[in-house]
Amino acid sequence: MLVSAKEMLQKAKEGHYAVGQFNINNLEWTKAILLTAQENNSPVILGVSEGAGKYMAGYKTIVGMINGMLEELNITVPVALHLDHGSYDACYKCIEAGFSSIMYDGSHSPIDENVANTKELVKVCAEKGMSLEAEVGSIGGEEDGVVGAGECADPDECKRIADLGVDMLAAGIGNIHGKYPANWAGLSFETLAAVQERTGIMPLVLHGGTGIPVDMIKKAIDLGVAKINVNTECQLSFAAATRKYIEAGKDLEGKGFDPRKILAPGVEAIKATVKEKMEIFGSIDKA
Ligand SMILES: [Zn+2]
Repeated sequence: MLVSAKEMLQKAKEGHYAVGQFNINNLEWTKAILLTAQENNSPVILGVSEGAGKYMAGYKTIVGMINGMLEELNITVPVALHLDHGSYDACYKCIEAGFSSIMYDGSHSPIDENVANTKELVKVCAEKGMSLEAEVGSIGGEEDGVVGAGECADPDECKRIADLGVDMLAAGIGNIHGKYPANWAGLSFETLAAVQERTGIMPLVLHGGTGIPVDMIKKAIDLGVAKINVNTECQLSFAAATRKYIEAGKDLEGKGFDPRKILAPGVEAIKATVKEKMEIFGSIDKA
């Protein structure tokens, strides 16, 4: 059964580790992540962006697929199904479809509108036993065509949103989605420390986990980050492994054209990436 991310993140914050959110794109992605979590006895959060939701034929299709997998693959570790960067409308669609967690991204709206919508969703999620993530300060890079600059959140605005009763808070701390440019200034630990100081036990979320150096990840966890989002890194691993298979001409040998064979190296690559992240985040054997 899918669970809310609330308890797993509270445990992570107390235990000074982080739970990975790995975004999914299809059946192979989902299966690879779930099996890796189970093999490593780690809690896990499956992230679905609005674009990926559309691609996978809608939120109800995704819920059906994942509930089926949890049962058929005997997945017993805690798994949350989470809407990533949801608009107000998408949040309600996912609540209705049976997601166990949502992120309302009101960071592009004026703070008063972000507060009003977050407040309303706090109430709805509490009634449904779902967890809710809010965002303050836009996180840079490109996510489904929305490009942000990588700003740092205002710690007082973070407190204002945290006090509404959300379960986790994403604050921009110079992190960006996708690959980091060579001239990236790094994470602002000053901002992160100020946010944690004002929001106390609130689990903080680090978006754009691809390519952040390990020492920065560990420092962020020390400063209260309990959830780290990884998306691009699995895509890069999958693409590289698939390229290798095709370039080696394996699809032209025997039944190498079988889609199950073509996709297999990519699946193994995703599993290796997810395991590596779980090791760095410290979530192994924390299920
Ligand atoms: Zn994000």
